[in-house]
Amino acid sequence: CGVFGVLAAEGDVAKLVYFGLYALQHRGQESAGITVYDDRGTTHTHKAMGLVAQVFNETILSEMKGSLGIGHNRYSTTGSSKVCNAQPIIINTRLGDFSLAHNGNLVNATELRGELSAQGHALESTTDSEGIAFAVSEAVEEGKNWQGAIITALKRCHGAFSLVMATPNALIGARDAYGVRPLVIGKTPDGSYVLSSETCGLDIIGAEYVREVKAGELVIITMDKGIESWQWEESQPKLCVFEMIYFARPDSVMHDESLYTYRLRIGRELAKENFVEADIVIGVPDSGIPAAIGFSRESGIPYGEALIKNRYVGRTFIQPTQAMRESGIRMKLNTLKDVLQGKRVIVIDDSIVRGTTSRKIVRALREAGATEVHMRISSPPVTHPCFYGIDTDSQDHLIAAQKSVDAIAKQIEVDTLAYLSHDAMLKATQIDTTHFCTACFTGKYPIEVPDKLKRTKLM
Ligand code: 5GP
Ligand code: SF4
Ligand code: MG
Repeated sequence: CGVFGVLAAEGDVAKLVYFGLYALQHRGQESAGITVYDDRGTTHTHKAMGLVAQVFNETILSEMKGSLGIGHNRYSTTGSSKVCNAQPIIINTRLGDFSLAHNGNLVNATELRGELSAQGHALESTTDSEGIAFAVSEAVEEGKNWQGAIITALKRCHGAFSLVMATPNALIGARDAYGVRPLVIGKTPDGSYVLSSETCGLDIIGAEYVREVKAGELVIITMDKGIESWQWEESQPKLCVFEMIYFARPDSVMHDESLYTYRLRIGRELAKENFVEADIVIGVPDSGIPAAIGFSRESGIPYGEALIKNRYVGRTFIQPTQAMRESGIRMKLNTLKDVLQGKRVIVIDDSIVRGTTSRKIVRALREAGATEVHMRISSPPVTHPCFYGIDTDSQDHLIAAQKSVDAIAKQIEVDTLAYLSHDAMLKATQIDTTHFCTACFTGKYPIEVPDKLKRTKLM
């Protein structure tokens, strides 16, 4: 999911939140929502199924008055694809309205929802996120202030959560102790504060990057006091490495460099580890392109474009059903026959998950005249499901959990297939290599996954 929030000294923020969500659209395409607080502290919320640009228009945004607002783009991992699961979630408390937008996935959602229901809370959605919001409101009703209530609630949550929240006069951000999902703080030249999943959300509204919200940190931002911070849990950074490889936008900055630069570098590493003779290197748009350019620079084999994407079809991966995924893929990519005719082709992609897209691409390249097709993947084989907010499917659908690299090569009909090593993927980050979650490549889950949940996705 994408989460975003703005607190301005004055003026309406609904449009800024809209543009922030627009820049974060790649993080979730199922539903979008914005909540603003007017000057009396009353919330106004609009949320619906669809893309940000489908859910909002000028009229809706201009009616949302207020200088504090948060927003959310949903990508479903838990809870079904329904409008009651759209966010932000708003709960009325004795201290005023509390609103919350969540990116990530709790591993104890069932337990938390069970406890809250037993305590008499009427949960309305089927998401883990609602549990966090109710846990906050419960602690408020027990007499705690916002800061105390939020910390109490966060301590009941296990799993991945980057949260953007608001109360009538504060914009609030928090990350789990592992910082699995990203979250950054920005500031505009006129003094407004911004929280965004990625830095591309700051750029679009002209905000400067201040710093990231740290793993295990809670920030409460008010116009009076600026940014106040609490380390609510000891930090043990484990950023999702898939954010670096694929999920986040290439123009977003993490660890002081753009992800484009990281992706170029893993392309170079891939060429060092898995060179093969060929006439042209191409990337699968959009996510395979930077690594393909890196591969070409390192290997000296010319880079070319031979797959053209219709940019107006959503990320196939995010469509909820396999049938939609398959038709989405056909709509999405077309080949350039004059570029491919008679060529030995190296095709680079960021990952193979189910293998269905890859086989289609390989067939299309051959139909367009490629004489050899060599696939190189800028991450290791995905052998394990994610429980922290990326929908990589259950293990029995992951092709690399079932088959060897040779068998995958056969199934996707390539001449050769090779993956980036786990070591090179981490070294190329150029930061402490223990600071990443890589569980979908290793099965070593940094946040313990309860057996009951494991059984839902593991073979
Ligand atoms: P496949 O061949 O597994 O069907 O699809 C692989 C392609 O889909 C890659 O281009 C990748 O960008 C995209 N993709 C689809 N699902 C996922 C996913 O869950 N995680 C990642 N990292 N990429 C995915
Ligand atoms: Fe990211 Fe994989 Fe870890 Fe999930 S399991 S958080 S996709 S690295
Ligand atoms: Mg891709």
